[in-house]
Amino acid sequence: MLCLPLSPTEHDASRMSYSAIVDNPAPNVEDIQAAARRIGSHIVKTPVLASPRLSAQIKGSVVLKLESSQRTGSFKIRGALNAILTIPTHHRERGVVTASTGNHGRALAAAARDLGVPCLVGLSVSVPASRADAIRALGANVVIAGDSQDEAVDHLRPIASSKGMAFIHPFDDAAVIAGQGTVGLEMMAQIAELDTVLVPVSGGGLASGIAIAVKGLSPGLDVIGVSSAACPAMFASIKAGRPIQVSEEPSIADNLGGGIGLHNRLTFLIVQSLVQQMLLVDDQEVRQAMRELFAQTRLLVEGAGAASTAGLLQLSGKLDGRRVGVVVSGANMDPLTWATLISSPS
Ligand SMILES: *Cc1c(COP(=O)(O)O)cnc(C)c1O
Repeated sequence: MLCLPLSPTEHDASRMSYSAIVDNPAPNVEDIQAAARRIGSHIVKTPVLASPRLSAQIKGSVVLKLESSQRTGSFKIRGALNAILTIPTHHRERGVVTASTGNHGRALAAAARDLGVPCLVGLSVSVPASRADAIRALGANVVIAGDSQDEAVDHLRPIASSKGMAFIHPFDDAAVIAGQGTVGLEMMAQIAELDTVLVPVSGGGLASGIAIAVKGLSPGLDVIGVSSAACPAMFASIKAGRPIQVSEEPSIADNLGGGIGLHNRLTFLIVQSLVQQMLLVDDQEVRQAMRELFAQTRLLVEGAGAASTAGLLQLSGKLDGRRVGVVVSGANMDPLTWATLISSPS
């Protein structure tokens, strides 16, 4: 598979530095610590699990961070809660709007219900009906809008502003990034001597938040991002040096689908400056990782959630002696589909 090492020195000349983002609205470690206090009572402080099998395979020490056990089945409730809780109270009651390929919509709906706030979720036509039903079951209104994530965003933003509701972007939002960064804070507290973190990347909100948190506390730590080869929007954008659009193919890591937005404000620059390396994994590798994770944990992990483990396996031989934290980001997959993927040969 393709592997693009992004050593900071190699790219320094062409990149805008993270600290130089004009009107820098990106969160810092203190913002992430504040987010942790704000959302603490609404989320699960998810467990970490040492993995002897994966440790042996990479000749290092692997610890899994199980956000698959988070409320709503993914880490996205963290960013959603922090985003709603940072809206001034008088504005909050008008409600929140988003566009999402699934897990963010579900998370925002759950967070809005917790906080007694109306919620509208726009889904692109490609999102399976079961996802829409799950979001409706949480009390949110659902509209189907646009062929892609980016189109759904374009459709929903004006609706939000006309109704005075707050639009909560799934990843390109400082409060969302700060919320997702709380995963990194927990990992730093839970895993001693962590030196490498592997994170699945779609829009890059999770990777951005985690990178700001862990590198803020321990600057020498390496963050490695893992994109799906079926929709390598961030990978290709980093390679191109600017946000670009890629075509999207169906994938078992469907929650890694969607673009990063041609007018990306935050996550592209944050990933570009704080993530050391980006990897691509294909469906075959993701499926293998799902099997490994089941063998190791007996847990159902969705494709997107297994992508970081697939990246880890791709790097075996290159992480000798490292203490690696692997973010297992979600568990939202139809169990029958999952069982079929796990049990059929290769
Ligand atoms: C959204 C999501 C990701 C990717 O997060 P981004 O912030 O978009 O990069 C990874 N895994 C799961 C399970 C997700 O739902």
